[in-house]
Amino acid sequence: MTALVQVKNVSRLFGSMRALDHVSLDIAPESYTVLLGPSGSGKTTLLSILGGFLEPSEGQVLIEGEDCTSMPPAKRPTTTVFQDYALFPHMTVGNNVGFGLRMRGLARPERDRRARDVLALVGLAEAFDKKPHQLSGGQRQRVALARALVVEPSVLLLDEPLGALDLKLRRQMQDELKAIQKRVGTAFVHVTHDQEEAMALADHCVVMNHGRIEDEGPAERVYSRPGSRFSATFMGESTIFPGRVTSSREIETPFGTWRLNTDAATGADVALALRPEHVAIGDGPLALGRAKVGDVVFQGSFKRVTAAPERAAQIDLLARLPADAAVRAGDVVEFACDPRHVLVLTR
Ligand code: ADP
Ligand code: MG
Repeated sequence: MTALVQVKNVSRLFGSMRALDHVSLDIAPESYTVLLGPSGSGKTTLLSILGGFLEPSEGQVLIEGEDCTSMPPAKRPTTTVFQDYALFPHMTVGNNVGFGLRMRGLARPERDRRARDVLALVGLAEAFDKKPHQLSGGQRQRVALARALVVEPSVLLLDEPLGALDLKLRRQMQDELKAIQKRVGTAFVHVTHDQEEAMALADHCVVMNHGRIEDEGPAERVYSRPGSRFSATFMGESTIFPGRVTSSREIETPFGTWRLNTDAATGADVALALRPEHVAIGDGPLALGRAKVGDVVFQGSFKRVTAAPERAAQIDLLARLPADAAVRAGDVVEFACDPRHVLVLTR
């Protein structure tokens, strides 16, 4: 399938600061792409380049095969939803949504008809004649979404669109966003620093760090087989510890010498990562030895436990244990894992 959007080797400098460093990315039609990364990793810069609010210092952006690198926002087939919604407070919801169509010279009846259609699509059919201040935060967010969708863009760009909502509403809006995206079939590109949000939404998850793409792929793949140390710690949590590949193709670790699958060369230093749900108490194929339990946080369906292993006290062992596990801070407990779950990371 040919990509709807092709970002080709894009860099962006601010003075001598490299906000984006040789980024290449394909976005498939009808896909939900999430740009995930910590603050300052270049997510907004990349989104602004896609939307035409910033020009790259080098590289190209193609949308539907057309070079849009220097095309202004209004001319390209993209629209953007900003975190603060930027609704016009004195205008009705209907006029807010129809605004982009008015700019394009459409007559009132057609504008209103399309605004009503798209408001129904986002579940706000009743709000047409209201003013923004009469709506809740989540409803205003949906008006902003409707306003961006009404002009039928090829690509909808969203920069931390749920950032202003409380956690519960945020999770609810995630489900709605995903459902709306599937209904309209427009490609969405959504920026967030929240990994749970990324996992809930992404067909294609792009992990960014220091202006580069660290890892990208289906969210499940990025989680289950992260491509780098950074991605293993940013997309979900991990216990990370060092390993070295021996001449007999085993890996020396602080917990013993283990036989694990890796393509890394003999003598290579690697990082090993263990997801918390793969660390258990008691016996297992790979012993992690005794460890002193630090924090135990009850999270409803499980307990999140940190522990300092006796063999390597500097390592922060992280485990997700059953909610009824009888562990308390200060206990010394045996931990174990399974070789199939140990991730071997070469970068
Ligand atoms: P993110 O959205 O991931 O938090 P940004 O894309 O906003 O990151 O920023 C990436 C880097 O570029 C940061 O170090 C930021 O300070 C810098 N930056 C972004 N915009 C500007 C600007 N207009 N002028 C100078 N530096 C900027
Ligand atoms: Mg940002």
